[in-house]
Amino acid sequence: LANAFTRNNPKSKTIYNAATNSLPGGNTRSVLYYHPFPLSMSRASGSQLFSVDGHAYIDLLGEYTAGLYGHSEPLILAAITEAAKRGLNYGSQHEDEVRLAELVKQRFPSMDLMRFTNSGTEATLMALAAAKAFTGRKKIVVFDGGYHGGAFTFKDGKSAAVNAPHEWLIARYNDLTSVRALLDSEENAGKVAAILVEPMLGSGGAIPPTAGFLEGLREAATAAGAVLIFDEVMTSRMHSGGGIQSQMPADLCPDMTTLGKYIGGGMSFGAFGGKQAIMELFDPRKPNALQHAGTFNNNVLTMSAGRVGLEQVFMPERASQLHARGDKLRKALQDASRGTLMKITGYGSIMCFHFTESTVEDVRSPQDLKDDDKTLSSIFHLFMLERGYYIARRGFLALSLALTEEQLDGFVEVVREFLRVHENL
Ligand code: PMP
Repeated sequence: LANAFTRNNPKSKTIYNAATNSLPGGNTRSVLYYHPFPLSMSRASGSQLFSVDGHAYIDLLGEYTAGLYGHSEPLILAAITEAAKRGLNYGSQHEDEVRLAELVKQRFPSMDLMRFTNSGTEATLMALAAAKAFTGRKKIVVFDGGYHGGAFTFKDGKSAAVNAPHEWLIARYNDLTSVRALLDSEENAGKVAAILVEPMLGSGGAIPPTAGFLEGLREAATAAGAVLIFDEVMTSRMHSGGGIQSQMPADLCPDMTTLGKYIGGGMSFGAFGGKQAIMELFDPRKPNALQHAGTFNNNVLTMSAGRVGLEQVFMPERASQLHARGDKLRKALQDASRGTLMKITGYGSIMCFHFTESTVEDVRSPQDLKDDDKTLSSIFHLFMLERGYYIARRGFLALSLALTEEQLDGFVEVVREFLRVHENL
């Protein structure tokens, strides 16, 4: 497969080779590297990507959830084009920024106040700073397999990146006992500023919360006087306002929320916000307010694209449809792979392939995926690319609004074909 891949993608290879001269390992975004070299895309439209080598791909990765709208969604494209014509960098407040904040607040009622950033990573950074300032404490509970941005990655009980220096306490996802043990220990009692959690582990393998886990965290955070932060950078697509909200625990109110990805309409975006009492720390009218600057926090393109996306495109009905489509696809994939090592976890329009003996129900934390076969997932990835389906190297998928039922049915067929070719799985 790797040889065929190299033969079929000579221009991508040339670009990659050139990249190694100025970028470490030819790469400026770790997640995008794969063996033998990553493809270079030159164009995208709707649900499709087109590579420099002239191949077309159905985009099932959806830019790790940021591509929810599909490529060049007409209303968003028009908003960006119009905004660009009005001038890019005002260095001032502007109306789209206020409107976007109102729209986000409508959908995330627990965010009394919010601030925008350029990325989800920055949103995490600022949410943690706010929680520490608010509580006067320093320790942060996070989860093994959790991912909160380039500077906040946890794996095998350790920081797994060039992590920002915080006093991390690493618990096990979907395991309240591990959280309580950390909070109640003599060393940590009264010292924990925040519990930072993804409502569904995203990069860690699309592992949803088990019943009661998030509610248990809410209780534990309140009891410990810690700020509960939901990192909804990926899961925010499950909430659309209206009906679908009940699909993530509706009565669960975090103290703070971080957002990113699609909410900026496909442009660089992040946001953090939450309870009035916490977010007021940033009120510049107050003496000793916390400072949070950022040249591009309210950049004109992101604010206008994000506004139109939430106002006109990702309405509750389309959000429910996308969610249902994801659930249907995952069920079809699970049916197709029953009795094999291939397992598909996830929730709604986000999912991930694993090659493991564990059943889908067994997978409650990344520790249940210790036997996940990386070689098989690499073969699966190259197989899918060869057939024209673009997915993440680690088997991650995030559906966009641009995908059609036919395209998803076609994908299920190709997965069946993969399983036929590898019948001993
Ligand atoms: N939090 C979560 C849950 C994420 O999945 C990501 C990005 N994949 C981030 C934070 C970081 O966002 P960004 O890449 O915009 O910095």
